Amino acid sequence: MAEYLCIVCPLGCRAQVCREDSGDLKIEGVSCKRGRDYALQEATAPRRVLTTTLATAWGRPLPVRSAAPIDKKLLREVPARLAALVIDHRVEPGQVVVADIDGQGTALVATAAATPPSA
Ligand code: SF4
Repeated sequence: MAEYLCIVCPLGCRAQVCREDSGDLKIEGVSCKRGRDYALQEATAPRRVLTTTLATAWGRPLPVRSAAPIDKKLLREVPARLAALVIDHRVEPGQVVVADIDGQGTALVATAAATPPSA
């Protein structure tokens, strides 16, 4: 059995997920369908928002995040790939910096401005 704290709303229900002899997953401890869906996702294919920084040509890192949660298994791989990227132009907060970071169309967006010193 695995236990997950539901973070969908502030109630913080604790979901217990176990596999029955039939192979089906049994979910207890949740109070609503959203919590059931969350627990099922956590047990089968957990996802997280990626937050990291990108290098800029002028040295000050640019904070970025994925526009939506991505497969948790990619949280190390994607930043390693992004390490080769250097921002060399002005970027506005919310601007898409990379169109697809996970092969599923999830964008990477800036969470702050990046302004070259001469701009
Ligand atoms: S199970 Fe439902 S009520 Fe409980 S924390 Fe999750 S979303 Fe909130």
